[in-house]
Amino acid sequence: MIPMDCHTHTDISPDSDAPVREMLQSARNQGISVYAVTDHIELCRYYSQCFYGAYPRNEEDFFNYAERWERAMTQNQVMKSMINHDMIFVSGIELGEPDADFPLAESLFKDVRLDFVIASLHELPDKLDFYFLDYEKEDIDSLLETYFSELLKIAEWGYFDVLGHITYPLRYIEGDAGIPVNIEKYRDCIAEIFRAVIHNGKGIELNTSGYRQSYGKPFPDESLLKLYRDLGGEILSFGSDAHKPEDVGGGIAQGVQLAKMCGFSKACYFLNHVPHFIEI
Ligand SMILES: [Zn+2]
Ligand SMILES: [Zn+2]
Repeated sequence: MIPMDCHTHTDISPDSDAPVREMLQSARNQGISVYAVTDHIELCRYYSQCFYGAYPRNEEDFFNYAERWERAMTQNQVMKSMINHDMIFVSGIELGEPDADFPLAESLFKDVRLDFVIASLHELPDKLDFYFLDYEKEDIDSLLETYFSELLKIAEWGYFDVLGHITYPLRYIEGDAGIPVNIEKYRDCIAEIFRAVIHNGKGIELNTSGYRQSYGKPFPDESLLKLYRDLGGEILSFGSDAHKPEDVGGGIAQGVQLAKMCGFSKACYFLNHVPHFIEI
């Protein structure tokens, strides 16, 4: 059963070339009834390059997400007006690095055209995206300590609906570089993150993209999902993080089974930032 796919991208994101209509058709073909488009908006490069006085650090360092923001909001509004009764369309966004500019991120969260905000951390202050780092040269302990402490700041700030792929660095450290991480070292900090999320009435997502990557597990995996549940976490959305039509819905059935094993009985989606629950 695929109750929803609440984390997907379209060609408005710089790392996707998928037209929204093809993504939606893929969701329809699988009978997915709740579908969110959550294109990337990176807060650390929201304005133009000259605003930051910075040069692109590599060919994928895009600035001026403000322009993508308007395109994303317009696309979401058009899709919402076109979707018939067979599907709930969720106007979403993936806000990357809100800690780079909390006041701006708060004002974006409050845009009335939005239903749903995933807050994600893809890069640390003064670092490239975890995708680009060379883990043979990095101090992995220090990276992860900084990552989870930044994520705690975001959780405490609270202007989002769910925290995205909370173990994102493991995709590259364990999955691609093959370097094992003892996540137990960070368990106390992760528990603090979960407590802050729950206290603020927010949730986390089970991001199932890891099932189709070398990491082989969702973000977060079973042990942290259980911890979230044990601490009283109830708000859990499911997202494939698809960037192309063939990945829509990917791994969600498996993720739902895992969530049930960890004690969850409902999946959550958001309309106008209000949680709605579906039995799983
Ligand atoms: Zn992401
Ligand atoms: Zn994403």
